Amino acid sequence: MKKVSENVWVNEILFELSFKCRKEYCNKLCCKEYIADVTEKEIKHILSIMDFIKKFKRTLKVGKKTYKPFFEEIENSNILVSNKNGCIFLYKDKENYFCAIHSACNYYNLALNHFKPRICLFWPLEVSYIKKVLIIDICEDYKKHNCISESKNNPILLEFLGIFRLFNNDELFKKLVFFIEDYYKTGSIACGRRLVLT
Ligand code: SF4
Repeated sequence: MKKVSENVWVNEILFELSFKCRKEYCNKLCCKEYIADVTEKEIKHILSIMDFIKKFKRTLKVGKKTYKPFFEEIENSNILVSNKNGCIFLYKDKENYFCAIHSACNYYNLALNHFKPRICLFWPLEVSYIKKVLIIDICEDYKKHNCISESKNNPILLEFLGIFRLFNNDELFKKLVFFIEDYYKTGSIACGRRLVLT
């Protein structure tokens, strides 16, 4: 782990990895292979836009008691329900798979970081707070995913800059964003990616 700012640590391997979502090749394996943990607060947020989400995944049945069909409790934590086709919010449009929560946020201009579960927003990164320290890590089986490679074409930290910026009201994320912008701007790592610093 590398300390990149006061109370912000990043796994050093992230400086060596490239990430590019290629859902057209993997059919969103990340939404099929994993079980996503969600907090009570996230569940509330998702339920509050269920009518919008339904527009993208029409088979979702929303009744009066909306909690059960979408979330379940396992060993004291809540998870998104999934079946053999993956997460309950995954849907197919033409040839590609999409997240109905993500699509609803994009279409209705809703804050992605408010409605999409954090674990999904950050995948394959793992973001946690340990004793008020922000830690950016990567899922341990990252090597098996084609979207992640050991190259410097699309540095993973730069790929996630836009997502980190969504949390700019959090001082530690602000520091992280500042670090990434500065790190890549100064050319400490050669990368062929354009930088947007707004
Ligand atoms: S909520 Fe969306 S991103 Fe998360 S696992 Fe389900 S379909 Fe994938």
